[in-house]
Amino acid sequence: MYDIIVIGAGPAGLTAAIYAKRASKKVLVLESLTYGGAIINTLDIDNYPVEAHISGFDFATKLCNQVKEMDVDIKLEKVIKIENSDKEKIVVTNKEKYQTKTIIIATGSKNRKLGLFNEDNFVGKGISYCATCDGAFYKQKKVAIIGGGNTALEDALYLSDISDTVYLIHRKSEFRGDDVTLLKLKNKDNVKIITNSNVTNLNGDNTIKSIEITDNNGVVSTLEIDGLFVAIGRIPQTEIFNNMIELDKDGYIKTDEDCHTNISGIYAAGDIRAKSLRQLVTATADGAIAATEAVKYINNN
Ligand code: NAP
Repeated sequence: MYDIIVIGAGPAGLTAAIYAKRASKKVLVLESLTYGGAIINTLDIDNYPVEAHISGFDFATKLCNQVKEMDVDIKLEKVIKIENSDKEKIVVTNKEKYQTKTIIIATGSKNRKLGLFNEDNFVGKGISYCATCDGAFYKQKKVAIIGGGNTALEDALYLSDISDTVYLIHRKSEFRGDDVTLLKLKNKDNVKIITNSNVTNLNGDNTIKSIEITDNNGVVSTLEIDGLFVAIGRIPQTEIFNNMIELDKDGYIKTDEDCHTNISGIYAAGDIRAKSLRQLVTATADGAIAATEAVKYINNN
């Protein structure tokens, strides 16, 4: 039986593993894909204490190595469901069934898609959800970014240094993202901002060739592009928990400030948790808190 099973190997989950192991607990980290979480796609982290600049990939790699050096078990298995009883909790994966005293959910979120009928056909063939991963393919080409949050603004700024023309398309007139970044974009000659508009159709054969844009008055136009970057937010990964874990209206896990969910011995940490600031620093803080609370629970039960 494990003391703590951490689901998700992003910054929150890996930090939880460090704190749990330091408290001499038997810990298992389960991750369906690869370590690092969403931060792995960030080109330059410049708001984390001590390291003025570090790439998301380097940060995640260093963190994962730190955890591995502590001899924490990390397994690449997809969690299918969790079960709870008075005596123990069960985590079922695509390969195994594990018994544990506590669970820390740190599953983060996944990219929101536009929902257009042929969107999936163009993924990797002109559509990307990660500018820092795929931007280099669009050197001197025409690209469009959809979204009005910080991700869209930062992606547009990043692509403006690589691509010939960058269209930033947003469905409202006001952007959610920071004014500072928006101002930088407005000062770039190769960035064209299109507001009050939605992408309503994707055209192309093997690769994307153009997109149809419909403005809020119903006027339709076509934009020829080589690449489309979708940055319209993220969806919490809670499908496997929502029959027993309490969620907020947007699907994030409700907790108190010490990361307790509605079930004793089950905690949520990082982007998956309902909270006002989703950043690296709050994810790692959550991981530390959740593990500390799990350790207290184990020692008291
Ligand atoms: P976000 O803040 O949730 O913004 C998503 C954007 O996509 C919104 O502008 C939204 O429009 C738009 N949108 C949603 N669904 C859409 C649809 N179906 N079609 C068209 N547009 C749609 O997401 P995010 O930019 O990924 O940021 C997520 C969090 O990470 C935020 O808290 C953000 O501040 C943070 N973040 C921080 C940094 C940083 O500090 N450097 C960098 C990146 C992200 P509406 O505005 O109309 O709703």
